[in-house]
Amino acid sequence: MKYHSLNNNSEAVSFKEAVVKGLAPDRGLYFPEHITPLSKELIENLDQYSNEEIAFEAIKQFVSDEIPSNTLRQIVSETINFDFPVVTLQENIGTLELFHGPTLAFKDVGARFMARCLGYFNAKNTEKVIVLVATSGDTGGAVANGFLGVDGVDVVILYPSGKVSEIQEKQLTTLGQNITALEVNGVFDDCQDMVKSAFLDNEISRQLTSANSINVARWLPQMFYYFFAYKQLYKQHSNIVFSVPSGNFGNICAGMMAQKLGLPIRHFIAATNVNDTVPQFMKDGKYNPKASKPTISNAMDVGNPSNFIRIQKLFNHSLEDLQSIFSSYSFSDELTKDAMQRIYNNSNYIADPHGAVGYLGLENYQLKNDEFGVFLETAHPVKFLDVVESTLDKKIEIPKDIKEIITKEKKSIAISTYEDLKSFLNK
Ligand SMILES: *Cc1c(COP(=O)(O)O)cnc(C)c1O
Repeated sequence: MKYHSLNNNSEAVSFKEAVVKGLAPDRGLYFPEHITPLSKELIENLDQYSNEEIAFEAIKQFVSDEIPSNTLRQIVSETINFDFPVVTLQENIGTLELFHGPTLAFKDVGARFMARCLGYFNAKNTEKVIVLVATSGDTGGAVANGFLGVDGVDVVILYPSGKVSEIQEKQLTTLGQNITALEVNGVFDDCQDMVKSAFLDNEISRQLTSANSINVARWLPQMFYYFFAYKQLYKQHSNIVFSVPSGNFGNICAGMMAQKLGLPIRHFIAATNVNDTVPQFMKDGKYNPKASKPTISNAMDVGNPSNFIRIQKLFNHSLEDLQSIFSSYSFSDELTKDAMQRIYNNSNYIADPHGAVGYLGLENYQLKNDEFGVFLETAHPVKFLDVVESTLDKKIEIPKDIKEIITKEKKSIAISTYEDLKSFLNK
């Protein structure tokens, strides 16, 4: 499979090169040249197949022969070796829980898949690749955990000192092995700037790569969620819609890829917090990126969603075609807290702020459409402990794995300037 840049100014590349490079030289996102629907037999009999088989069938055309089938099967089965349950909350509402992975974040799937692909591609090189990431919270933990123990790859994570939650910090700093945490005296933007400088610096002797969500190996495996949910529901419900709490729009765009592969999804709802660039675009066709505003669903505080260009490409930049299968709504923190309370009172279910935004999107859509809907629960509520406990006025139970991690010893290296990072990378 070849991938071309959506800026149309770089050569088409192989899957391997797209994974190793991340972004095309013209700064465009990579996009597959063909999308071939899966067989009707598979789609109509999904409940007869294991999750591993479904995921392998969904991803194989995008990897083609660049990873041998047996290895790819192994990678897929390690990537998804946890549950993806749909929990029914109301007669016409279910939630797809994507937080059963090792860091309790849906980003685990993309990070684990990318780590294993990169490990495979780099296994024969004597020089290790360094994955360099800046994190404001969840991404770092998922990436660190996904790459833990992968041969041929070292991971260096920059995080802002004192600006991530205790759980998130421990997830980054207690793993050891090939994972190093650099604790930056600054804010998230300082971490991000240092990472950008390193990518542009010819004096850094090590090979660097990035593991953010624009990488095709992090984006594409998110298709699996929609197949797994559909498999659990299609015998009882026709016309299933999905509401996806969205920030960079990678997750929902992967859902649209699943639909292109033949999964009969009726409609997509992208639910956002007050960072409403896409909901505004859907109203008037004008795309006006803005500076992001902080909210309680902070993993979605994105003013210029990087994957939206892929969604437009999927619909040949036709607003009308997009509107026929996609709606997008924005919600305030007040409404989000109100939804968390209602979900708890009506269904005895604890949603995190991101899931609650997804719930609101679905509720809004269902005012005019009588269809069964699933909202995606993208993080475990314990990751947003303060907001959840104060909103519901209730203590929530901390899972065993998290309790264990909190007792582990933090190991980080303090840095303050770009020169500190550079000398760390070159030593
Ligand atoms: C990253 C993230 C999102 C947003 O996903 P996108 O693919 O960027 O739209 C939503 N919820 C949580 C908890 C996240 O970590």
